[in-house]
Order: sequence, then C-alpha cells, then structure tokens
Amino acid sequence: MEAPRATKIHRRFELCVAVLCVIGVTLVLSSSDQASAASDEPPVATEPAAEEVPEPAPEPEEEPPAEVPEEEAEPEEEPARARGASRLRISSAKADPERIFLGSRRRAAFRFELSGDGARKLLVKVVKVSNGAVQKRFRLGRVKPGERQRVAWDGKLGGRRGFTSQGEHAFRVFSEGERAAVSRDSSTQRFDFYEHRFPLLGRHTYGDGFGAGRGHQGQDIFADCGARLVAARGGRVQTAAYQSSAGYYVVIDGRGTGRDYVYMHMKKAERPREGSWVQTGETIGIESDTGNASGCHLHFELWSKPGWYEGGSAKPPTRALKRWDSWS
Ligand SMILES: [Zn+2]
Repeated sequence: MEAPRATKIHRRFELCVAVLCVIGVTLVLSSSDQASAASDEPPVATEPAAEEVPEPAPEPEEEPPAEVPEEEAEPEEEPARARGASRLRISSAKADPERIFLGSRRRAAFRFELSGDGARKLLVKVVKVSNGAVQKRFRLGRVKPGERQRVAWDGKLGGRRGFTSQGEHAFRVFSEGERAAVSRDSSTQRFDFYEHRFPLLGRHTYGDGFGAGRGHQGQDIFADCGARLVAARGGRVQTAAYQSSAGYYVVIDGRGTGRDYVYMHMKKAERPREGSWVQTGETIGIESDTGNASGCHLHFELWSKPGWYEGGSAKPPTRALKRWDSWS
C-alpha cells in the first residue's frame, strides 16, 4: 500500500512540474514577444526608415493654411514638429536674394544648418506660399549637425515643364520620409519669383503713354540722365543700332516669349552687341536723350509675336511696366 501511494504523490509532483513548466514557458514566450514587439517600435531618435512616405504625396494638403502664418519667429526657436524628430531643428536658415527673375543668372540660394541629435537624410522642397504646391525637390542625403547646407534654384521646373508661376515661394526642410516639415515657414526662408524686371533702375516718372499725340508706340519713362537700363526680359539682341528719331536703340527678342522688347534714346556706350544674349536684369545701356527726345528718358516698346517689324505690332506696355515696377 505504501509504494503506490508514493508513486501517486510522485506522479502528482510530476504533473505539477509539467504544469509549472508550461506556465513558465508561456511566460518566457510572452515576455519575449513583448520584447520583440517593443524593438519593432522605432525609438524616438532613430532613423525613420520604416515610415517612408511615397514620393507623390498630396503635397498641397500637407500644410493647412492655419499653419502658415504670415510672420514667424526665428526658425531656431521653433521646435521640430516632425514625428520621430523631436530634437531635430534647423538653424541659420536664409534664402537670398529676396527676389529672382526668370532668365536671370541670379538664383535663389537657401542656406541652413541642422542641429539636433544625429545625422539625417534631408529633403528640401520649394513650395508656392499661396497654395503650398511643391515646385521643386532637392535630396541632400545624410546630413550631420553643424554641416552647412546650400541649395539654389532658378525657378525652372525641369524638362519641358517650363517655370513656376510668379509670386512668393518658400524653402522647407523635411527629414526624409516624414510628412511634416522640420522647419517652420519663416519669412527668412522665402523669396519672390517674377518673369520680368522693370527696365530702369532708380527714381523715375511716367511720361507719354501709348498712342499719345503722334501715334506714340510706347511708354516714356523719365529719370535723371545716366540711369541704368536693364533687360526687362533676357533674350537675343536682335538689333543694336542708331536711327534719327529713336537715337541709339536696342531690340531684344525675349527668350521664350515670342515678343520683342525695345529700348530707345540710349547712350551709345554699354549697349550689347547684336546677336549676343542678355539675361533678365542685365545692363543693356544708359538712359539718355539721343535722337528726337525732349529730355533724358527711356522710350520703351513691347511688340507682339513675331516681333518688331517682323509682322508683330506694338502693344500698350504701360500696365505691364507698372506691374514690373511694383516688384522690381
Ligand atoms: Zn517715347
């Protein structure tokens, strides 16, 4: 009788051990599950590779208007809003110059530094401020804190897509794969893009307009003698010549416009050579009173396609000039 009882106890003990084992294994498994689940969760400060956002994301909806206030504090004061980038910031962010012109050598340059807790893959986007639409992307690759970054843009969209529309643009910095910008939209990161520049530098007044008196074909702009004249729009110098009423004059075939831009009563000096190319905003002469002119002034004409005495006709240029004047 003793022996079976001992065996029974022994069996019970064995069963107990087995149950404990199962519980123990289950506990070990579940705790290792938790551990692996925890390691799947990206720690706050590591690479956001798991969160790649597909490239053609609906960009315009990215920034609700409420988040684009007109005036911002200094960008270095602003905490990053990007998820997984709580300590990521940019500093010394600045766009220069404040305005660029289509067909000009001068591009909008954007400089900044990354500050924070490690290298990041960064992306710089140029957006139209009015609607948030992305016009251009620059992939910078891995950027370390303290490394100075610079990108520059001329307003062209690439390929045959032409150029961006006129108005205010902003550079914004993103950590690659994140939807929210690292940089807040500060005024120091903005620049304006325009297709034309006003052709006379310095103080001026408007004289006779289109059709005034004797079938005047342009707009007169008066300024002190010697004012610098620049190309309203770059292009090929079709004519640089002298004529008794126009004086020294220049005709520029505006690149990509089909239109001609005509400048009269100039000094002989500093005019570009026929057949050469000029950039928007480049000096093309000095205002004077050569030819039939009552006082120093620029006589400006705008000709429709295909151009000046090539089948086009002179168009009233005053409204266009006043618009260019407002931003130049
Ligand atoms: Zn005139």
